[in-house]
This record gives sequence, C-alpha cells and structure tokens, in this order.
Amino acid sequence: MQKKKTAHNKANETKNANVTARATEKVIVDKKTPEEKKEETEREEVPKSGKAKLISILSAVVLALILIFKPELLLGAINSVATESADGVYAAFIDVGQGDSIFLRSPNGKTMLVDAGTPDSFESIQNVLSEEGVTKLDVVVMTHPHSDHMGSMKRVIDNYDIGTFYMPDAVNTTSSFDRMLSALEKKKVKTKVIWGSAKTTINWDGDVEVRVLSPIKGADYQDNLNDMSVVIKVTYGETSLLLTGDAESYAEELMIASEKELLQADVLKIGHHGSSTSSSQAFLDAVQPKAVVISLGKNNDYGHPHRETMQRLKKLGTEIYRTDELGTVRMLFTESEVRLLKGSK
Ligand SMILES: [Zn+2]
Ligand SMILES: [Zn+2]
Repeated sequence: MQKKKTAHNKANETKNANVTARATEKVIVDKKTPEEKKEETEREEVPKSGKAKLISILSAVVLALILIFKPELLLGAINSVATESADGVYAAFIDVGQGDSIFLRSPNGKTMLVDAGTPDSFESIQNVLSEEGVTKLDVVVMTHPHSDHMGSMKRVIDNYDIGTFYMPDAVNTTSSFDRMLSALEKKKVKTKVIWGSAKTTINWDGDVEVRVLSPIKGADYQDNLNDMSVVIKVTYGETSLLLTGDAESYAEELMIASEKELLQADVLKIGHHGSSTSSSQAFLDAVQPKAVVISLGKNNDYGHPHRETMQRLKKLGTEIYRTDELGTVRMLFTESEVRLLKGSK
C-alpha cells in the first residue's frame, strides 16, 4: 500500500506538469459553420459570466488549499477541474513502440482502452492512465490476439477494474494469450466476443456512439488474425475516430462492401502500423480522413510505415501523426472540431 502511494504521488507530479501543457496545439478538423464561429468570437470577447467566474475562482482556491494541506489529493482535484474544462472525447494514442494502445475518455468521464501494446508497454500505458487518474476501465477492447496488441493486457487486467472486456472470436497459441485469459477468469471480468455489423454498438457513454464495424460474422478471414481485428468507430457530435487494429485489405474490402457509408471518419488510426497490406486506396477513399495516426516503433524490424502507404496518404493530403516521431499523440474530439493537444511524452 505504502509503495502504491509513492507511485501515486509521482503520478500527481506528472499530471500537474501535463495539465499546464495540455493546451491545444492546433485545430485539425473544424466543422463549425461560419455563424457558429462568429458567435464564438463574440462570446470570447465578452467577459465570463459572474457564475462561471465565481466557479473558476472557487476551483482555483480549493485547488490551492488542497495543494497546501492535502498533497495526496492532488490527482483527484486536478482531474475534476480538467474533466470539466475538457468537453469532448479525449484520445491518447500511447507511444508503446511497435504496437497499439489507445486510451479514450468520454465527456462524462467514462474510460476505454483499445489494445495494450507489447509485453514491455505496461509502464507507458500506466503513465497515461495515472495522468488521467484512471483506476477503472469501463470498456477494454482487445482488437486481435497478437503480442503487439495484447502484450501487456494481463497486467492491465490485474491492475485495473474492468467493466466489460471485448475481443474477437480469434485465438492464439501464445503464452501471453493464455495469461490474458487466465487473468480475465481470475478477476471474473465480464468478457464478450464481439462481431461487427452496421447495427452493432458498444455501450460506453450515452453521449458518444461506439460502433463495431468488423470482423463480420460468416466471413472467411482464412485465420488471418490481423483481418479479424475488432474495428470501432467513435462518434461524438460531428466528429469521429476510426480505430482499425491491424485490419488488412481483405477486411477493408468487406467493410466497404457492407457498410461503406459508416466508414467516413475525421481521424483514422492507420491499420497495421502503416503496413502496405492495410490502408488500401479504396479504404482511404471511403474513410476520407482529415488526419491519421500511425502507431509504430522507431526503426522497427518491419520497415513500417511502408513507402506505398505513405505515398497513398500523401496523395490524400491528410495530416499524419506518428508515435515514433511524436511520442504519445493526444487529441480532443469536441462536438464540432478535433484538436491536437500539447503534452506528448
Ligand atoms: Zn497483428
Ligand atoms: Zn500490430
């Protein structure tokens, strides 16, 4: 317990540093109408209403008092302030080297983790979760049983309370897969095998839609675990994020055939770390992303991202954010725009 407390305090310091750094770096996607923009400029010009002003003064005073008298409460206090000011879906594409792990927090404070990186990724994941004061993950999705996506899942299951755990109907013979299943069983985590369809959704936050688009039941993925990746689309207001795991061109083709109109998204987490076997031209044309995130390790053994993928993305004119260059990439999806947030690493 004592040991935990030290880690907690350390996390507090990180959080403190991050809150000050968590400003918007730039707006990537802006869907506001000219009228809305005008309104916003006008609103910015008028001083804060009395009530809002009082609340921010009170928050500052309370925070200062807490800081002085109860340093161990710092995390919770800063979080409540941060949550109030951040109206949107917060997404952190965690730098886990050559792997995937994405943390999401809803406007109402619900949490989700999609994948858990490699066996060496737990600390990186834990750091991001500590910054956000997370002890419970309402939803965990394991896109597919490859060790660069479920490598640290056992430790995530051991260390966090989990609401519902979702996985595809795919198995692997690796020991990390067995360890993950045993951990789920030991903690009696509610586990669901999930298929994608135009109608499948995950209950997460009433204000946010989480659709599951793949894998499609009855399709023959020929035991290609990458193609069996759980693909989810998160929509809040007018903004959206598509997470494709390692889905490759065959899975992409099936999604285009059955749910093309659902694929359009503002931000796309590129499939399979930028491999040329994913992100087919037809798929990119269907998604029309304004920005993409590629999760991959520096100088990885696979030559990711492949040149062909980068060429297709450049042709598309989309913004490209890479975890091997930027570290953890953080974004905020408000109802009308997507902001890139400062504070990587
Ligand atoms: Zn894979
Ligand atoms: Zn992978």
